[in-house]
Amino acid sequence: MTEPSDSAARIGALPTATWNGPLSPPPPGLDLRWIWQIPFGTITVDSYNETEAVINEGRLTDPSGRALPITGPPVTAEDLAREITTTTIACPVCATTADLSLRGRWGDPAEVLCPCGHQWPVPGGRAYAIGAMTHAITLAIAQQGLPPAAPSS
Ligand SMILES: [Zn+2]
Repeated sequence: MTEPSDSAARIGALPTATWNGPLSPPPPGLDLRWIWQIPFGTITVDSYNETEAVINEGRLTDPSGRALPITGPPVTAEDLAREITTTTIACPVCATTADLSLRGRWGDPAEVLCPCGHQWPVPGGRAYAIGAMTHAITLAIAQQGLPPAAPSS
């Protein structure tokens, strides 16, 4: 097999709808019973457009999968950008996009919480929502450390 061009390699490396790759093990010392509520402000979700990716890939490879010398218009950064759609999450009840938080436990799908107290699932499916929660908890611990003590239940 020939070495793919940089653009083809990038197309192949684009993730599908995952927040942060595969589910990683919980950080040491994390109590899995803790329910986290992590403020994010505005939350955007990237979704992968497979149709655009196939079009771009088709322009770079022939049916046998070999990279073609580019004879037509090159695949541009704009072409590649169309493979990812970024959506800003808005509350389905009050429509706010500001001061949103993610809420949930490690390993559970995240829910979004708006300042009025409305709560709804993170869009994009269960695996995506679980990844969103573990990613948020990992970020929170990296920035602020573990909470000092487990809340007694
Ligand atoms: Zn709301």
